[in-house]
Amino acid sequence: MKEQFDVTIIGGGTTGLYTAFYCGMRDMKTKVLEYQPEAGGKVSFFYPEKRIYDVGGFPGIRGEELVADVEKQAKSIQPSVVTGVKVTSIDKLEDGSFVLTTGTGDKHYSKTIIVASGLGTFDMERVMLPGSEKYMTSIHYTIQRIQQYKGKKAAVISDSRVGVDWAMALENVASEVHLINHDADFKAVYEHDIDKLEASSVQVHREKTAVELDGDGEALTRLKLNSNEWLEVDDLLVYQGLKIEKSLYEEWGLPTEKGRIPVGHDMSTNIEGIFAAGDAVFYPHKTMLIASGFSEAMTAVNSAKKTIDPKAKSQVYSTVIYKHS
Ligand SMILES: Cc1cc2nc3c(=O)[nH]c(=O)nc-3n(C[C@H](O)[C@H](O)[C@H](O)COP(=O)(O)OP(=O)(O)OC[C@H]3O[C@@H](n4cnc5c(N)ncnc54)[C@H](O)[C@@H]3O)c2cc1C
Repeated sequence: MKEQFDVTIIGGGTTGLYTAFYCGMRDMKTKVLEYQPEAGGKVSFFYPEKRIYDVGGFPGIRGEELVADVEKQAKSIQPSVVTGVKVTSIDKLEDGSFVLTTGTGDKHYSKTIIVASGLGTFDMERVMLPGSEKYMTSIHYTIQRIQQYKGKKAAVISDSRVGVDWAMALENVASEVHLINHDADFKAVYEHDIDKLEASSVQVHREKTAVELDGDGEALTRLKLNSNEWLEVDDLLVYQGLKIEKSLYEEWGLPTEKGRIPVGHDMSTNIEGIFAAGDAVFYPHKTMLIASGFSEAMTAVNSAKKTIDPKAKSQVYSTVIYKHS
């Protein structure tokens, strides 16, 4: 059965999620395809714990809270959301509609497409040590909820600013924090951050590497350094850089500028029926910000609606649609 959607959104970051909500406002049958197991994009991946101050209406909101709210808003219109899938190709069918194919070969049918897939997919470089498979539940690649480290002994493996930031954030919560750097210096760190690190209770192990993980059979309890020293550790955080796979826009027939898709004022791309929004797009003076993505999403959805139904209104007001709430 080829279930066809009015619109399929590639990417479930903040832009993709808000796009889904707005598709509901325009009464469109909507699907979201997201590569990560969870929606939220860069905000969930890079800074869920950080406060964001430049989204209208929120004087300050933590990344994960903003994502939870945008996700709640999206789910209110009950879109079909498929996570853990990577769109690899897009083909236009004879009737002008599209078939999107994922890495697993699954096909998704849609009248229009909105590309909200940022600059591509990203994953953390994973740690491969004796014991890491066995104790993988104790190994983390982002700080999702800092309170989960409360009173625990934590180690951070990193040679960069990200590791220094994490160690300093954990210092306020964990009972003990180790920062392990194979190098003598940290990359891209301000001097005053190093001064703060040195003045903190974080135990910095420079020019050391972790060589083995050990535990009680269920959870991690200790970590061995190449100096043969064992550190007592309950949780291990690792930042060894990112694996970024650039978006496949050119392969999809969408020319790029600086890796992003040039769009018209209506967020149209060079392919009729395909629109784009958020970090994925390029136009003069484009700001790479969450709020810009929200605004572009509305325009992209209104344009997709007009493609399907040329007589549809150019825009709608939520206060008119949601009369009783
Ligand atoms: C460290 C940092 C701090 C920032 N701070 C702020 C701030 O304070 N305020 C602010 O407004 N902005 C900030 N930004 C920018 C902001 O995070 C981005 O503008 C915003 O996240 C873009 O959202 P998006 O949904 O367009 O793209 P993304 O968040 O990149 O989401 C794209 C999604 O598409 C998915 N995807 C990609 N390719 C495919 C594919 N082929 N198939 C399926 N899924 C795919 C990805 O997995 C991802 O989930 C910051 C960015 C960074 C990195």
